[in-house]
Amino acid sequence: MNRREFLESSTAVAAGVAAFGWPGRVAAQLPDKPIGIQVGAVSFLDEGTDKVLDTLAELGAIDTLFLATFTYGRGIGGRQPRGSALPDHGKQEYDDDYHGGNFATHHPQYYRGTSIAPQKAPDYGGYDVIADVLPRAHKRGMRIICWFEDVFRKDVPGLDKAFEVDVHGQPQMRVCYRNPNTLNFWLGLTEDYLRSYEVDGLMFGSERQGPLNNALGASHGGGPAPSTVGCFCPHCLAAAKKDGINVERAKQGYIALENWVGALKSQQRPADGAFVTFWRILVEHPDVLAWERLWNEGLRDTYRAMYRKAHEIAPQKPMGWHIWHTNSFAPFYRAEQDYRMFTQFSDFLKVVMYHNSGGPRMARYIQNINSTLFADLTPDQTTEVAYRLQQYASEAPLDKLSTAGLSADYVGRETRRALAGVGPGGKTKIWPGIEIDVPTGEKEKKTTPEDVYAAVKATFDAGANGIILSRKYSEMRLDNLRAAGRAVRETVKR
Ligand SMILES: [Zn+2]
Repeated sequence: MNRREFLESSTAVAAGVAAFGWPGRVAAQLPDKPIGIQVGAVSFLDEGTDKVLDTLAELGAIDTLFLATFTYGRGIGGRQPRGSALPDHGKQEYDDDYHGGNFATHHPQYYRGTSIAPQKAPDYGGYDVIADVLPRAHKRGMRIICWFEDVFRKDVPGLDKAFEVDVHGQPQMRVCYRNPNTLNFWLGLTEDYLRSYEVDGLMFGSERQGPLNNALGASHGGGPAPSTVGCFCPHCLAAAKKDGINVERAKQGYIALENWVGALKSQQRPADGAFVTFWRILVEHPDVLAWERLWNEGLRDTYRAMYRKAHEIAPQKPMGWHIWHTNSFAPFYRAEQDYRMFTQFSDFLKVVMYHNSGGPRMARYIQNINSTLFADLTPDQTTEVAYRLQQYASEAPLDKLSTAGLSADYVGRETRRALAGVGPGGKTKIWPGIEIDVPTGEKEKKTTPEDVYAAVKATFDAGANGIILSRKYSEMRLDNLRAAGRAVRETVKR
């Protein structure tokens, strides 16, 4: 260990001692290398709680459950949505009427500071997933992490009082992180889960990014949407002014971006090309970039506040974050996920490394960014840029990406990058999100036991501190889960 490493690791230990009273708290609460899986309420109801726990332990070598406790989304809640095949366990029926909400029981005293109603998910009567699963899991030595995410339905009472405001002054159906209603809602859930239940930790996820990336369509999601970017609500305007950001110039810049995207979409290529014209907007309106940072700071302040709250209540229970898959495709979002900065407010990071759906998703990112920032390049050149800038070795060419997926080598590289990012000292653990049967299109790559085995092996060979099988047990085929367990038993649980 050289001097710098020594200082860094001793600083990390000192910070851990200062914040939590003693170092190595995560290891004391959880297995040394947790083998986690994300699982939602429906699986326990469909298959029986003990049976699910048996299956997970036997097939997947699972010792830590990431219970989906709050979401209105279908990614981590409910069964497989219609259009994707149901797996070889659970009820063979689609739950089209899935609603979502809090799958545990809320306690009103924790939500006094927010307009957002803490709704119990109406899906399963009075069922409380933590109350049901926790005692049975603990009896077996399994750990429980509450897993909650920023996915709402539009009709949640009081949600409209937390909406972002876009560049044209219109409300958008997504919560502003600077709005106290939003912050107090997440703090309420954090406190409720930790005070009301003997859970072993928390994980929160936000699959969102800032206005610049959204204007560019720099993700595998819905494409460029420059007219709806935000946030320009009073809370964000005040934060901008405090930071010395020129609000008017930021708005003008985003409107210039909107016109630039509009021109490119209607095949009116600017005389100077897409990239030079973009760069001109940026240097003339640097506040565009400042607004991107401002948005990220709003999210990071939320993480900081949740982390602080969690550790005030339960100093020794880990709190960490799900890092969205866009981190694997877009160098822009990737740059904004600074793992070293995360170490200030994270006990662990679940960095999403879904190798299988990663293929079709990367292809969609290429299509999106090729319609804006990289419109001067061909799609193949854009793919090459994405691979080179993110230091991938030999992933499939664009025309094969959707059927090939990404490789186990990608999982290994992303693991090593994350470990290097958080640095020595081990304060912040890296528990990669490994995919099993994340839905893909009809003709796109499907998960196989071989590629699950290779991905799990690659991540542990690269030094991962644990894994989280994702996205949810109710969409995983048992032979694929078994392959994960086999790789775990050959690498970490001999
Ligand atoms: Zn705002």
